[in-house]
Amino acid sequence: MPELPEVETVANGVNERIRGERIRSVWLSRYKEPFKTPPDPMSEALTGARVDLVHRVGKHIVFDLTRGKTSLHPKTAVQWIVHLGMTGRLLVSAPDVPTPPHTHAVLSLSSGRELRFVDPRRFGRLALHSAPGTEISQPFRGPGHEPLTISAGDFAALFRRRKLSIKAALLNQKLLHGVGNIYADESLFRAGIRPTRVAGRLTRAEFDKLHIALQDILRKAISLGGSSVSDYVDADGVAGFFQLEHRVYLRTGQPCLVCGTPIRRTLLTGRGTHYCPRCQR
Ligand SMILES: [Zn+2]
Repeated sequence: MPELPEVETVANGVNERIRGERIRSVWLSRYKEPFKTPPDPMSEALTGARVDLVHRVGKHIVFDLTRGKTSLHPKTAVQWIVHLGMTGRLLVSAPDVPTPPHTHAVLSLSSGRELRFVDPRRFGRLALHSAPGTEISQPFRGPGHEPLTISAGDFAALFRRRKLSIKAALLNQKLLHGVGNIYADESLFRAGIRPTRVAGRLTRAEFDKLHIALQDILRKAISLGGSSVSDYVDADGVAGFFQLEHRVYLRTGQPCLVCGTPIRRTLLTGRGTHYCPRCQR
């Protein structure tokens, strides 16, 4: 499942490729699952709209769109929200490239290219934020705080008096959105904090370390992502992403890269959790 850096990389890649284009026509599949907003109003809102910006909010890819002013309709803004789910991909393709199986949306653009949403397992979701023809009252923010921009003080305050483990708290999308299993394990390792610790009992110094570790690793992963994004959004069938070298994630039994102690794995809220029993206290 794509995590925050992958989603940001895809959003940036799509933005570079289609920003400023107008959506000429829209085709949507007959499957129900991908459409959080029913296909008819979605298609109506997208057709004719201009893509002003594509960006990431949490694990969502947000398309800021405006519809042109006509004699009948004032200029209106709408946001199209794409969640990739487990296997969703966005492809920018020439129209003569065959449409891959499991394509659920095709947006034909003014340049002649197509933006395609492909999702074999159909856990991805497409939605409109705001009804067509109405001004957006509030831009889409998603449920939780943004891990890359939250301040150290606000970060520590999120976990105050929380009785769940710090690992579970990091994964709680209502607190921070976009942090998944890999970056939770890796940031806790870099901060030297045992994932099973009760979140509310961490010291301010530990929160500060975790805040720095989490932002640092997310930024590194985003910067590495730049080189692989063209495969993701230009070509069909290529799902491979860069991988930041994992220090604990999926390294069960292998020696810790710092102290040599075998990495342990445990389950926390049903998620495989990897840590060094010596470096993380
Ligand atoms: Zn260690």
